[in-house]
Amino acid sequence: MKVAVYYNNRDVRIEERPIPVPGEGEILVQTRASGVCVGDTMEWYLTPRAPLTLGHEASGVVVQTGPGMDLVRPGDRVVVHHHIPCLICEHCRRGNFTMCETFRRTHIHPGGFSEYFTASREHVERDTLILPDNVSFEVGTLVEPLACVVHAIRRANIRPDDSVALIGTGAMGLMFIQVLRAWGVRKLIVYEVLEWRQQKAREFGAEVVLTPSRDVEEEVRRVQSILGSPGADRVIVAAKDLSAMNLGIRIANKGGTVLFFATPHPEDSIPLYPSYVFFNELTITSSYSGDHNDTRTALDLLACGAVNGEALISHRYPLEQLSDAILQTASRQGSLKCVITFEENH
Ligand SMILES: [Zn+2]
Ligand SMILES: [Zn+2]
Repeated sequence: MKVAVYYNNRDVRIEERPIPVPGEGEILVQTRASGVCVGDTMEWYLTPRAPLTLGHEASGVVVQTGPGMDLVRPGDRVVVHHHIPCLICEHCRRGNFTMCETFRRTHIHPGGFSEYFTASREHVERDTLILPDNVSFEVGTLVEPLACVVHAIRRANIRPDDSVALIGTGAMGLMFIQVLRAWGVRKLIVYEVLEWRQQKAREFGAEVVLTPSRDVEEEVRRVQSILGSPGADRVIVAAKDLSAMNLGIRIANKGGTVLFFATPHPEDSIPLYPSYVFFNELTITSSYSGDHNDTRTALDLLACGAVNGEALISHRYPLEQLSDAILQTASRQGSLKCVITFEENH
């Protein structure tokens, strides 16, 4: 089978490897589609550990099951979540599944950028979902990123009557717009710098789309006049720029919540004024990944059409062009979600 091996964004090599044999309780999946994540473009994060086999947004067909595995059958169309919690550690007992050590450690092998991959019994038991007939393999790859969006909305405790400000409308931001609408949110302000993305945000249902000015005070006044309140009840920062984080803190309502969603560089920092946070009772929080409850909600949202998966996929590539897909994703020029697709009979 062909496996893509990552060295850096411009150097991805195709290796020929034997198709793995599923062991006790494992499954072998023939990959049909695999999404490219912004995380797959972060060289500072990836190259120190390279060479790597990536791909954590994978869907496919079960082709073989190991001894003792009868929860799925050959022919089942599945999406396998790469990270699964142990369910018994202290983090899991408190419901913080994405903080679980097992969650961080678990993967599918060798990854989604491979013609086949295996997954453990625990993967099958805890977070392998059967795709309904109306959800394509390509759309199935959105279950993982969409689960991250659902996780963030839960972590920010967003309710239908909250006003929400969303900063940044990459592919994830566009998912936020759709999920927030499905959540019942009616008051939404979207900030985006790039013009083509502003247009996309409108197409995906955002009514108020603003270009952030350099003057934060001006933005505070603008948000106040649109919402008729001191700020947005919930702010989601889905952009990595530090200016977006500063803006997010300033446009939050008194008693509001600011959630950091994008992944900043480890060296990055922003000034925080504790007295401002104190007098405004701000909650500053974040969201990492999504758990097995979020993936189920994500698949439901795709299956019922509340999130238009097809419209989020802008580029398709064969495995051999993974480097192009990574560079396209990193460029932020004209692409939403890039997906690696595989022929049915490879
Ligand atoms: Zn991802
Ligand atoms: Zn655990």
